[in-house]
Formats: sequence, structure tokens, C-alpha cells
Amino acid sequence: MKVQCPDCKANYKIDISKIAEIPEKGVHMTCPKCKGSILIKIKPEPKKEEQQDTIIICPKCSHVNISTKTCVSCGNIFTKEETEKLSIAIDKEE
Ligand SMILES: [Zn+2]
Ligand SMILES: [Zn+2]
Repeated sequence: MKVQCPDCKANYKIDISKIAEIPEKGVHMTCPKCKGSILIKIKPEPKKEEQQDTIIICPKCSHVNISTKTCVSCGNIFTKEETEKLSIAIDKEE
């Protein structure tokens, strides 16, 4: 989705699928340009799924983890960077 900084009008493209959960009131990100606060708000959609699951394949043991930040197999704690890089959203198709 596209967001615009209310202060400097810079446009950013955000991959919201990388964000595990966005509260109804939205989340704030810091504008890299002016350090201002940008509110990321998702339009409420009719609830079809409770929460989208993401899978993370552990880089150490290749165990497939579902919606966790710690490998359930080897205990490896994924860094924020790894979580962003490795998580795959599970799309439930009907
Ligand atoms: Zn800005
Ligand atoms: Zn592991």
C-alpha cells in the first residue's frame, strides 16, 4: 500500500504483508526524510480470517515455523531483519 507523509508529502510504498498484525487504530512509522510520524491505517475489511499466519523457515535448521519469532525446533531467535526477510504470508484461497 502507499502512504504519504503528512508533513513533507513524501510517498512510500509499504509492504503491509510483512507486518504481522496491524491494530485497528493503525501503526506509526517514522518518516525517513523529515522524521515525522506517519500513520499507517488499514481499511477495515470484512472479517473472513481471524489473523493471517506467516511462516518462517529457520535459517539454521530449516524447520518451518508458523507465526513465531523463535524456532520451535532449535530455539534460534529470529532477528527483526530475518523475520522481515524470511517470513512468508500464507494466503488462504477459497
Ligand atoms: Zn516526512
Ligand atoms: Zn531452527
